[in-house]
Amino acid sequence: MNIEHILVRYGEIALKGKNRNEFERALKGNINSVLRKIGSSRAKRTFGRLIVELNGDDPNVVISRLKDIFGIISLSVAVKTSHDVHDIQKVALQLMKEETAAKTFKVSARRSFKKTELDSQALNYEVGSYVLRNTDDITVDVHNPDVEISVEVREHGTYISAGKVQGRGGLPVGTSGKVMLMLSGGIDSPVAGYLAMKRGSIVEAVHFHSPPFTNERAKQKVIDLAKQLSLYGGAVRLHVVPFTEIQQEIHRQIPSYYAMTITRRMMLRITEKIAAEQGALALVNGESLGQVASQTLESLRAIEQAAEIPILRPLITMDKIEVMDIAKQIGTYETSILPYEDCCTIFLPEQSKTKPKLEKALQFETSLDIDAMVDKAVNNREPSLISSDSPIDNNFTELL
Ligand code: ATP
Ligand code: MG
Repeated sequence: MNIEHILVRYGEIALKGKNRNEFERALKGNINSVLRKIGSSRAKRTFGRLIVELNGDDPNVVISRLKDIFGIISLSVAVKTSHDVHDIQKVALQLMKEETAAKTFKVSARRSFKKTELDSQALNYEVGSYVLRNTDDITVDVHNPDVEISVEVREHGTYISAGKVQGRGGLPVGTSGKVMLMLSGGIDSPVAGYLAMKRGSIVEAVHFHSPPFTNERAKQKVIDLAKQLSLYGGAVRLHVVPFTEIQQEIHRQIPSYYAMTITRRMMLRITEKIAAEQGALALVNGESLGQVASQTLESLRAIEQAAEIPILRPLITMDKIEVMDIAKQIGTYETSILPYEDCCTIFLPEQSKTKPKLEKALQFETSLDIDAMVDKAVNNREPSLISSDSPIDNNFTELL
């Protein structure tokens, strides 16, 4: 049987008016930028669906690459036939016979083209009873079927599919503007970046590096994490910021129990400035409430006052276990747990204030030439564009 199409389903409920149009356009663009690397198949928009015409490309390859694109709820390989109920019955039976492990099924018909003889109910009945008559040991289960045969009647024909592959949901990357991720080599920040991508953001990343106290391996780790993230959100522009001098200066000038607070404030200022240069509308980090001394409410407040740009914290209410589960599922965990020295831990004392006072931080900062320190770090950053060379690369370069 000739499988010619992939049906792409996306969230229809929450989308209205202009948003919907933008969503569909972005999703189609992202899908096609991936498909261009595979072969000649392309996505087309029809009412409430995107349909990929395969043009000879392998449906399994296409599905395996599309399932990680945000905005897609599910995907099915589909056979296109006429509006004639006999044709539909034959295709449905053939698809069902290929599902050798299935014991139960149901038929779900939907018509966006209403000028056919049978309505959805009648189609469900005619197709379901035909399959029952022509198979052994298979029964209908409308609540929890092993296989759902979907019959979609459209103006130019009927698309029939058996089963679906789940997508990741979310919004197409590019529909929510750009954010600047603070990417360490830890477990949390890559997950925060993934979640920002899931809500449609283009993610760029800033990493603070303190050579010779942090080594090339630590930098490579961050590059590997950015590469993994690029599978979901397209190429990631990474800015590696030299941070050694700033840390040394803080070490010299600031009492040790405020070093962490001031270090974080400097990181924020630098990231905010890079964000402004790159057109990012918010920062994203991996902070989770109460996890460490720098993540108490008092600390978060004393730190975030250093910047005006909104700071998104996708993990703020998550437990470490929840974050680790996501990290494993998106393929960043194994890299994140490799041993390395983080720039923040090197100069910092064993004990930091868990309830720093903003006034104190501001007072201590008067001994630093903040603008010069920030400008120097921003100007000396090393930018690079990281994308994966793995076969499931989603390189949405037109978004950058
Ligand atoms: P992570 O697992 O993401 O490192 P964490 O729980 O270890 O987070 P911290 O190390 O205190 O927490 O860092 C809090 C957040 O600050 C990180 O999630 C990250 O967004 C940012 N951050 C920390 N270190 C760096 C760094 N070297 N470069 C860029 N951002 C950093
Ligand atoms: Mg960390």
